[in-house]
Amino acid sequence: MRRHCAVGADIVPSFESFPLRAELLANLKSLAYDEATAIQAATLPEALNGRDILAQAQTGAGKTAAFALPLLNALQVKRFRIQALVLCPTRELAAQVAAELRKLARQIHNIKILSLCGGQPIGPQIASLEHGAHIIVGTPGRIEDHLRKGRLHLAELRTLVLDEADRMLDMGFRDSIDTIVEACPAKRQNLLFSATYSDAVRSVAASYLYKPAQISVEAQHQHKNIEQRFYRIQDGDQRFEAVLLLLMAEHAESAIVFCHTKKEVQECAAYLQQHGLVALALQGDMDQRDRDRTLVRFANGSATVLVATDVAARGLDIDDVQLVLNCQLSRDVEVHTHRVGRTGRAGGQGLACSLFTDKERYKLEALSEARGLEAELYDLPERGLLQQDAPQPRMHTLQLDLGKKQKLRAGDIVGALCKDNTLSFDELGKIDVLPMTSFVAVQRNKASKALERLKSGKIKGRQIKVRLLRR
Ligand code: ADP
Ligand code: MG
Repeated sequence: MRRHCAVGADIVPSFESFPLRAELLANLKSLAYDEATAIQAATLPEALNGRDILAQAQTGAGKTAAFALPLLNALQVKRFRIQALVLCPTRELAAQVAAELRKLARQIHNIKILSLCGGQPIGPQIASLEHGAHIIVGTPGRIEDHLRKGRLHLAELRTLVLDEADRMLDMGFRDSIDTIVEACPAKRQNLLFSATYSDAVRSVAASYLYKPAQISVEAQHQHKNIEQRFYRIQDGDQRFEAVLLLLMAEHAESAIVFCHTKKEVQECAAYLQQHGLVALALQGDMDQRDRDRTLVRFANGSATVLVATDVAARGLDIDDVQLVLNCQLSRDVEVHTHRVGRTGRAGGQGLACSLFTDKERYKLEALSEARGLEAELYDLPERGLLQQDAPQPRMHTLQLDLGKKQKLRAGDIVGALCKDNTLSFDELGKIDVLPMTSFVAVQRNKASKALERLKSGKIKGRQIKVRLLRR
């Protein structure tokens, strides 16, 4: 069975219409969760019935509560055993999920939720495990580690959640997930949530889910927390300058610029670079290595602008950008909605600016009609702005020629850089360890120091190749 439903559809059920425990309902009320979101409305009836779920919805759709409520509803606090395990791709996401779980569970007394993530000291985790827990939230690598060492027992587990499954698989966690699933009882409920359906997600679903309810929620049709501005421009030539002006006016630290074609992507990125911005192009012709490198640099704050085609940006999971800029309007309302949805995620404020010429006015009208709103037209910022310094990224990225295959861990990089207090932990940003290579973001003014340090030191007992990524 496959269900499609639109967020913002007319009927939004209140949580009272679901068979939830009284404490949960009372708590939802106190949290002012008045209505279920579309993904919650579609999954709750099935999941509360004990059925497996395969669900897809964009970031910010409310997926956490969609699995947290069924899990909490089934939980028996008096049985002090691990009854649920939630796997998340990163420590940050696991922390968010644990926080949301605690919030939703706060009226169920004595419930113990434990986080077990990589990149954190193992000692306290071992101690916490000895004290026991009802729910574990963690990253696959670390969970696998605890399992192998016999510190974690999942024999009484009832619910297994794979959150952000697409991302976990992209990060190479398939083997760990396999090991973890093998340690779970065969009879259990599986809840799989993903922002996209990739082949890898389908394969995991086919291996582990039992007759799942397949639920897919379309992109949101109205972004209430996103301000949309439209700018009329004279002709094709004014476009890139208008893009530059808007980026300058908004002091954008993270912006995605959408173009129609690969050629425009290249030209626009080159134009912005010429004007002093750190702008990276992302388009379909790039090989996986270039694509990874580009995404890592944008996501870790080493580039302020990503210029992309719609195709290249598909399935892209960038947490939240400050500004979305449409170099041209899309013909397709859905595409426009998707682009715009990259800002203002998870309830934050977002801004989307779209350029159009007189020839494109019909697209603007189609959009206004679909949104049921009059498009708000704005004037471009003054050209004098171009005299100012372009906003610069906070971070720089160093690339190392070691990766997971060489058993490199983020902690090794932290160790090498923070040894002898060359850098402090706070001066490091995101660390991405890929199969054959890895990236570390460092504060811009510390980049050359970090480079020297890594060049002269050793990691895993050997001299490594490292370079500072500029343009
Ligand atoms: P996703 O995992 O789909 O990206 P989250 O579960 O993180 O989304 O939810 C996004 C935000 O929406 C969170 O801040 C959460 O607290 C809030 N939220 C979720 N469900 C509801 C609801 N029914 N009513 C109000 N806020 C909600
Ligand atoms: Mg989520």
